[in-house]
Amino acid sequence: MSRVIALSGGIGGAKLALGLSHVLSPEDLLIVANTGDDCEHLGLSISPDIDTLTYTLAGLDNQVLGWGRRDESWAFMETLEALGGETWFRLGDRDLALHVERTRRLGAGETLSVVTQRFAGRLGVQATLLPMSDDPVRTRILTPGGWLDFQHWFVREQCRPAVLDIAFHGADRARPNAALLEALDARPRAIIICPSNPLISIEPILAVPGIREAISRCGAPVLAVSPILGREAVKGPTARMLADLGENPSAAAVARRYGKLLTHYVMEPGDDATGIEVRVHRAQTLMRTLEEKVALARAILSYL
Ligand code: GDP
Repeated sequence: MSRVIALSGGIGGAKLALGLSHVLSPEDLLIVANTGDDCEHLGLSISPDIDTLTYTLAGLDNQVLGWGRRDESWAFMETLEALGGETWFRLGDRDLALHVERTRRLGAGETLSVVTQRFAGRLGVQATLLPMSDDPVRTRILTPGGWLDFQHWFVREQCRPAVLDIAFHGADRARPNAALLEALDARPRAIIICPSNPLISIEPILAVPGIREAISRCGAPVLAVSPILGREAVKGPTARMLADLGENPSAAAVARRYGKLLTHYVMEPGDDATGIEVRVHRAQTLMRTLEEKVALARAILSYL
C-alpha cells in the first residue's frame, strides 16, 4: 500500500493524525506539520504544531490543559516570574527541555526536519513527522493596531484584536520539504487535510511554493475534514477568524477555501453542503475519545 500524507496544524489535526496512526502502519503514514506558528521566544526555537503532534502521537499530550506535555511542572515559569521575566508564553519544565535541545541542534546546523524526526523517534512516535519546510515561515496577523507576530496575537493578546488580514512571512522564499515532494511524486494513496484551522494551519503549508502544485499533480484523492461543526469550531478561533475576514463560518466555507485542490470532503451529517463541488461524505467528525479518532480515520480510508 502506498503512503497516506496528512497535512496538519496542532490540536485538531493531531487528533486525526493519532487516529490514522492506529489504522495505518508507520511506513504508510507521513504527517506534515505547519510551521507558520513557530516563534523565537526567550532565545528558544519553538514549534507549537510539531510539538503538539509529537506529544499527541507519543501519548504524552497534556489532556488537562489541552496543550503542552503531560505530567508537567512549572518551576521554570515560577522562577522567571519571580525574576520579572516575560511570562505570557507558558513553557512547562519538561516542554522546556525539548525547546532547549531543539535550539541547540538548530544552532549546530541540523535541519528542523532532522531534529523533528529525532525527537519524535526518541519519544516513541513511529509514523514519519516532518515540517512543511526547513526554512522559516512566520504567520502574521493584521489587526486594527497593525501587524502582530502570530503568537503575540494568539497567546499574548488572546485572539482579541480583529483579524483584517493574514500573511505568511518568508513563505515565498521557503523551500518545500524535499521528503514531502518525494512522497508526493511517489504516487501516494491519498492526501488528507486534517480538521485544522484552514487560515493559519493549512494555508501556510499550501503557501510554500511547490506544495499545492505537487498535491494537484500527484493524482491522488485529496480529502479534507471540516474543522467547523454547525457554525462553530470545536476549539480555538477558526470561526471567529473566518467571520472577521467576511466569511460565513461553516463547513462549506472551509471547503470553498480549499477549492479545486479537493476531491472529497467530510462533514457532519446535519451541516449544509450547498455549493460544495466535490464528493461529500457524512460522518461524526467530533473526536473526543481515541475510539472516535480511530473511527473517523477508518471511515476516511474507506471513502478513498
Ligand atoms: P492549532 O494549530 O493548535 O490551532 O490546531 P489546528 O489548526 O490543528 O486545530 C484547530 C481546529 O481544530 C479548530 O478549527 C477546531 O474546530 C478543530 N477541531 C478540534 N477538535 C476537533 C474535532 O474533534 N473534530 C473536528 N472536526 N475538528 C476539530
